[in-house]
Amino acid sequence: MLAQGASGLGDGSRTMATVQLKGINKVYPDGFLAVPDLDLAIHEGEFFVLVGPSGCGKSTVLRMVAGLEAVTGGDVCIDGSRVNDVDARDRNIAMAFQNSALYPNMTVAENIGFPMLLAKLPKATIAQRVSEVAEVLNLSDVLDRYPGRLSGGQQQRVALGRAIIREPRLLLMDEPMSNLDAKLRAETRTVITAVQRRLGVTTLYVTHDQVEAMTMADRVAVISRGCVLQCGPPMELYANPVNIFVAQFLGSPQMNVVLAVITGEPDAIGLRVGAHTIWLDDVAMARFPGLRYRIGQPVAAGLRPKSLHESPGGSLPVSVTYIERVGERLHVYATLDASGVTQSDAEVEIDGGRTSTVVVLMSTGSDVNLWQPLELTFDLPQLHLFDIHTGHTLAQASAARASVSA
Ligand code: ATP
Repeated sequence: MLAQGASGLGDGSRTMATVQLKGINKVYPDGFLAVPDLDLAIHEGEFFVLVGPSGCGKSTVLRMVAGLEAVTGGDVCIDGSRVNDVDARDRNIAMAFQNSALYPNMTVAENIGFPMLLAKLPKATIAQRVSEVAEVLNLSDVLDRYPGRLSGGQQQRVALGRAIIREPRLLLMDEPMSNLDAKLRAETRTVITAVQRRLGVTTLYVTHDQVEAMTMADRVAVISRGCVLQCGPPMELYANPVNIFVAQFLGSPQMNVVLAVITGEPDAIGLRVGAHTIWLDDVAMARFPGLRYRIGQPVAAGLRPKSLHESPGGSLPVSVTYIERVGERLHVYATLDASGVTQSDAEVEIDGGRTSTVVVLMSTGSDVNLWQPLELTFDLPQLHLFDIHTGHTLAQASAARASVSA
């Protein structure tokens, strides 16, 4: 449907915008510091996602790029030119928002074509472009309908069509799918990603949904309290998170992080979890070379649910408390004899209890029952270790250090 060259859209001959945010700062009029000092570089043609929990400042950043919110410090540059003082309508940016309202008295075709009508382009040109956009967005069959007779997903695609019809060089989207149900979100994700690839338009997309970030982005920046914690290709962040916050924000079910103690001697180091010790092999010792200086000290050990496996004699005994069937997988919740660790913003928090709940992914055929004791092993190469005070990874030369402008 979206093969290159199937219509006049996105023939690849135009250059797309770059965006540089240089030390931008936002203090709202009531004195609230939403963005302290943020650097970010978005490359030409890139699908860049800002992801973080509600209230972390994602929309504020996007609105500063759009020109809808004034920056209180630093520079917003588009294609290398400072645009701090350029009016929103003169920035040549297209936008699609969560509540992008369609005009109820206009048909789908009229809604999509409206920006071209405003630009006083000839009717034949508008009709041609509307037809191209509708084809790309799979809306050709509903061009004569009014918005009230469209599904939520179709309405969202019309809003996107209206945003892209003038072939913008920069597209900004703020939670465009948050009003859609899970199935429509999955479908619309595919459409948006395909359209972006097709047009090659530089895109800044804001969401709190890590699934959207993981599946759509060329690069993603995880934001907390207006600061970029880590930036890079999604799988790089998933595999090498710089801290507990990023580790637990990306991936579902989230990474299990528990309190452990470094034990042993400088050339034979183990990890004590509860009453059990897991000895590290040479590869793990090389990944975490500083552990020899932490013998006797607590660390936070991170184990993704898919890295844990049932194995009689395994070094992590647990007791099953809840089993959830999710498609072809079981999410098995089990009690482990070690405190849980989380990181909210800058703070690392250790649960008061001596046990915590871990999640293990198993296949539906697994012989597992409620309250059953299990012995788990885990994939040592997938072990993550974090500093218990700062939450930072203890891995050496992590591939995904917080490089925010690469
Ligand atoms: P969400 O996902 O919930 O939309 P967000 O990450 O996009 O959140 P922002 O809307 O950028 O967050 O808001 C960042 C912070 O700035 C929040 O704490 C919010 O309450 C605050 N904020 C936003 N707008 C204003 C305003 N006009 N005046 C004062 N504070 C504001």
